[in-house]
Amino acid sequence: MIAFLLVAPYLVSAQEKSDEVMIASIYDEVLSNSTIYENLRVLCKDVGHRLSGSTGAAAAVEYTRQLMIAYDFDTVYLQPVMVPNWKRGPVEILKITNSKKRGVIDLNALALGNSIGTGPQGILAEIIELKGLSEIQERKNELAGKIVFFNGPMNPTLLETFSAYGAAVSQRSSGAAQTAPYGAKAIIVRSMTQSLDDVPHTGSLRYQKDIKAIPAMAISTKDADLLSLLLKDQADLHIYMENYAEMLPETQSYNVIGQLTGTLFPDEYIAVGGHLDSWDVGEGAHDDGSGCMQGIEVLRVFKSLNLKPKRTLRAVMWMNEENGSKGGKAYADLSESRKEHHIAAIESDRGGFVPRGFTSTGSAKQKQQLSQWKVLFEPYGLHDFDRTGGGADIRPLSKQGTFLIGLLPDGQRYFRYHHTEKDVFEAVDRRELELGAASMASLVYLMDQYGVEN
Ligand SMILES: [Zn+2]
Repeated sequence: MIAFLLVAPYLVSAQEKSDEVMIASIYDEVLSNSTIYENLRVLCKDVGHRLSGSTGAAAAVEYTRQLMIAYDFDTVYLQPVMVPNWKRGPVEILKITNSKKRGVIDLNALALGNSIGTGPQGILAEIIELKGLSEIQERKNELAGKIVFFNGPMNPTLLETFSAYGAAVSQRSSGAAQTAPYGAKAIIVRSMTQSLDDVPHTGSLRYQKDIKAIPAMAISTKDADLLSLLLKDQADLHIYMENYAEMLPETQSYNVIGQLTGTLFPDEYIAVGGHLDSWDVGEGAHDDGSGCMQGIEVLRVFKSLNLKPKRTLRAVMWMNEENGSKGGKAYADLSESRKEHHIAAIESDRGGFVPRGFTSTGSAKQKQQLSQWKVLFEPYGLHDFDRTGGGADIRPLSKQGTFLIGLLPDGQRYFRYHHTEKDVFEAVDRRELELGAASMASLVYLMDQYGVEN
């Protein structure tokens, strides 16, 4: 009995031991020799924000292409994709015009992405506050001629901040389309954050075919609270909105791809990366410069440690996640037409924060395989392996049976920065960014070694 206890764990751990050693050397390499932080600095400071169709997006395509060429990946190429070309206007005004207590009050606001503008005539209208889309039906007869103010907060009691975001964000994405049929003139949305501050958070909305498009803006959480408070005393509060947002014709852009070709199973692909586009405020540092730079770093680590992958690894910078997801769709469509088989794809799009685990979407066998590897990551602080998830850009690969995985960093601070002027390079911590990259590289190493279950 004693002999069995001594022998069995040894046998079990032999394989784990070598994986353990490899993973240690991957973490060591990233934490000692990585230039990921400097790469992110260049993307944020020299390129800057990069909404689809902008000159910044074009510069980001060229920068990441050159970066991967400089790392001497086997192949680096661009994949054409047509993207929406939305432009924020030069002037954005949102103000209360008739507060009995305070007079005229300027509000901190940003047009929502994909929104139409008001034009120079602006919109002056009475305001009506709703706590969420669920109140529309009940109050639909009160909406005509008004600006609808969606003031449902992200639920602060949910520890999983992305769940709180998911529950609140439909106000932003479909509030306009759901109120326009009842005669609403425009909408205002409380910013998607638990922070209480003066920073408005933009983000995309979707209009519906055959429903009139109306302008939409986000306001800061402090201003949302102020507006709500003033409305309690004065029901006939008026808002003036003026902006010049517009959707221009689609334009040519690209996914950027760097590849290390597999030595044993080149027809099995593992894609890893993030989305290269960002909103047109801030620098897209957490969202999603971090994920892009981490994807490139994964392949750099393989090169640097002279690990020849058995399977083909691709670092992918998807274009247009923010306001159309055209890059993710184009990547999957092209992959399908070439009969490629992606066994797995990892997306990092929850910020460059300290990694806690991985989310995943796949078969029971795939999820079981991932959770068996958890023990190898626990020494590095990753313990959260059971949540469902993946990433918006890799989701279209699910048609291939691809195991979809998302890096899961600590999520408590992400929505401070998300889609704002505060999402800048300085908001990313070097070490946290590196730990995320090392975690992704380690998981890619394991999947490359052992393949992925079906
Ligand atoms: Zn993102």
